[in-house]
Amino acid sequence: MLIVDKYGGTSVADAERIEKVAANAAATSKAGHDLVVVVSAMAGETDRLLQMSRALNAAAPPREVDALLATGEVRTSALLVMALQARKVAARSYNGAQVPVITDKVHGRARIARIETAALRRDIAAGTVPVVAGFQGVDEAGNVTTLGRGGSDTTAVALAAALGAGECRIYTDVDGVYTADPRIVPEARCIPRITMEEMLELASSGARVLQTRSVELVGKYRVPLRVLSSFAPGAGTLITCEEKKMEQPLITGLAYSNNEAKLTIRGVPDRPGVARQILSPIADAHINVDMIIQNVGVDGTTDLTFTVERSDYKIGLEKLREAAVTLAARDVLGDPAIAKISVVGVGMRSHAGIAARMFSALAGEDINIQMISTSEIKISVAIDDRHLEAAMRALHREFQLDHNQPPSS
Ligand code: ASP
Ligand code: MG
Repeated sequence: MLIVDKYGGTSVADAERIEKVAANAAATSKAGHDLVVVVSAMAGETDRLLQMSRALNAAAPPREVDALLATGEVRTSALLVMALQARKVAARSYNGAQVPVITDKVHGRARIARIETAALRRDIAAGTVPVVAGFQGVDEAGNVTTLGRGGSDTTAVALAAALGAGECRIYTDVDGVYTADPRIVPEARCIPRITMEEMLELASSGARVLQTRSVELVGKYRVPLRVLSSFAPGAGTLITCEEKKMEQPLITGLAYSNNEAKLTIRGVPDRPGVARQILSPIADAHINVDMIIQNVGVDGTTDLTFTVERSDYKIGLEKLREAAVTLAARDVLGDPAIAKISVVGVGMRSHAGIAARMFSALAGEDINIQMISTSEIKISVAIDDRHLEAAMRALHREFQLDHNQPPSS
């Protein structure tokens, strides 16, 4: 089987760890698999390079920033090849332009247009392990580009898709995707298998494991993707496009964000166009609005409440106060200490009553739900952030995420 293995920054943080990666890659290759390895820059390196560029020029030209940042991954690719060759494993390093990984020309968040695989395939056929510098590509004019922070994940999945690999494995510093953040819910466990859609919902609700674009590629090219630890044994989490109906638990995992704030405008005229008048200035200030509720109008007026990221709270409040003056609204209220909790699971599609169970578990802890939003496979609630831990633990218990779950159908 052809496997694409990607090692993150902590896995290649120093010579000793690169040595371990080399041992792991050598074992995979000796087990008879065809192997392509993708590497990140050493942990902290991309940030260090960015800081240096900012110190020299606050408005550093994006082309040069990309030329600089791409070097982090180039170094680790060459170092890993050296370590592999010292173990008598034939290997060759590639930067993005050498593969080549062709991208558009949007520096700092380029998208991959195509990957030419001829050179890699020649190596693979000759028993040589290509070691590819992640996170980078080259545009049609030959400029070095980068794919956005965390972009090595995307390099790996895109390469796996282009090469028709049997599996793409992302080696990182956690042993997989968890039912909840174990720092908050100690009973959380590693999820053996999750669908790509659930993974995207968890990621957009606050769970940060993989670059979101890499997960989208799993859906587009049907590459099985596995996340696992480079430090501990275990099969990690398999992210797939297929739903295994018989074994599907109702709820797959919980995610949270305690970085939310709530804004309310009360007593605005209940007529067409008002929501736009309130929210357009917010959007113009580049503030992302997440949940929105509007109350049923009474006496020709209504209230509108929405959540924003906490760092946007102050400016959001200002914009809302301005809108309140224009609209002759009664008043504006705000609360900067909101948390959002989401329960995610494809089991929701075929089962009713998940919301009711979620709300009664929170009621059982005396936790007030301030806002609710749903998608086909997700229910999110906004609560006072003081209750975050209690809420997460109650929901984890309610949906028996700490057990090996019974089939849902
Ligand atoms: N080194 C890059 C970053 O830190 C890309 C990556 O590690 O995936 O964002
Ligand atoms: Mg990463």
